[in-house]
Amino acid sequence: MLGTDCNTAKWDEAQRMETKPFTGSFTLQEPIGEEGISAAVKVMRSGRLHRYNTAGDELSETALLEREYAAYQGSRYCLACASGGYAMQIALRAAGLRPGEPVLTNGFTLAPVPGAIAGAGGRPVLVEITPDLVLDLADLEAKAGSGKARFLLLSNMRGHLVDMERLAALVDAHGLILVEDCAHTMGAAWRGKKSGNFGIAGCFSTQTYKHLNSGEGGFLTSDDPEFMARAVMLSGSYMLYGRHGAAPDPSVFAGIRLDTPNCSGRMDNLRAAILRPQLAVLEDSIERWNERYRIVEQKLRAVDAFHVPVRPPEERYVGSSIQFLIEGISKPEAHDFVAANKALGVELKWFGDDEPVAFTSNHKSWGYVEAQQLPKTDAILSGLFDMRIPLTFSSDDCAQIGEIIASCAKAMPLKGAA
Ligand SMILES: *Cc1c(COP(=O)(O)O)cnc(C)c1O
Repeated sequence: MLGTDCNTAKWDEAQRMETKPFTGSFTLQEPIGEEGISAAVKVMRSGRLHRYNTAGDELSETALLEREYAAYQGSRYCLACASGGYAMQIALRAAGLRPGEPVLTNGFTLAPVPGAIAGAGGRPVLVEITPDLVLDLADLEAKAGSGKARFLLLSNMRGHLVDMERLAALVDAHGLILVEDCAHTMGAAWRGKKSGNFGIAGCFSTQTYKHLNSGEGGFLTSDDPEFMARAVMLSGSYMLYGRHGAAPDPSVFAGIRLDTPNCSGRMDNLRAAILRPQLAVLEDSIERWNERYRIVEQKLRAVDAFHVPVRPPEERYVGSSIQFLIEGISKPEAHDFVAANKALGVELKWFGDDEPVAFTSNHKSWGYVEAQQLPKTDAILSGLFDMRIPLTFSSDDCAQIGEIIASCAKAMPLKGAA
């Protein structure tokens, strides 16, 4: 809990402390490697940017990427598409969502998730979260019970995996159709099983701030042939589905190809060419993210006033961002805390603000979604801070950032921080 005597004098003191400001950029990703650049140039020289613009029997860069991602993911099928949000939209449609049907999802996630549900014609029903930032399974059970909803779009928000065995048991017990939003869990796993392989589909993003970077882009993975055939048709395959890299046999399309709408959202060969070399080193990138995460984490765990979400031993996470909670912090204090960090070059996002800022928003700012009461989630978000960890940060950068955040907490009258 915080005292009430947070005043500007305390902050002036913080500024005077000998904390060296951090000067790196929180939005700077690594450049595209030379291999990706050459592959992209080759595609441009060929003029064959459209995924179906192939010569003879050759497989396009997009088809090859699908094959490689399916192998990485351990899924039978993979569809490369325009974005992660688009992957979720067509996943819900291909899984049979009917207009106006409720779709359960996390009360804490980013705007593309309720957006995808709305885009697919569904109605988001928000489920509470826990202080470890995962779905509250008791609330899920209450809201899923007695056939109230058929669909769960599980958002593995900021890379935190809920106990996936308990979740799978609940999904079974209530006959839910599970679609996973893995925008932050590409490469993550629960007890060795990859995130995205627990339900009918996994949805991934290759947007610049995720684990692979093609500017925009996404993947949909599944083991279900008819589901995937519908998704491929929805993505805008025309009658060219035979040219995919990891799609069901053309015979599966026979029954659905004429009654599935084309909602164009394909990936192109230029993006695919950039992604293939990145996928080849994804495991190495994950290790590098986690080294950085652990350095910041260690500094933050040393501050008593912070709750850093617990990472269960069953979870293999990807530490591309870090979160912590300050229980009981007031709005003015949270604003001061963010400003003090900013003054020292550290960009924290705060999820408790009234106004959505940049990528950050909360359920109260999704005006197209029916207003819902989420007291537990609201209490958590009011003290939730979040920070990206780009791979352009060195280990020293991470240590310095952790120290700055801790020093800003010390400069506030936070219980246990002094
Ligand atoms: C980024 C993101 C997505 C989808 O991203 P696109 O920008 O549509 O590729 C989905 N869910 C979450 C939680 C995200 O952060």
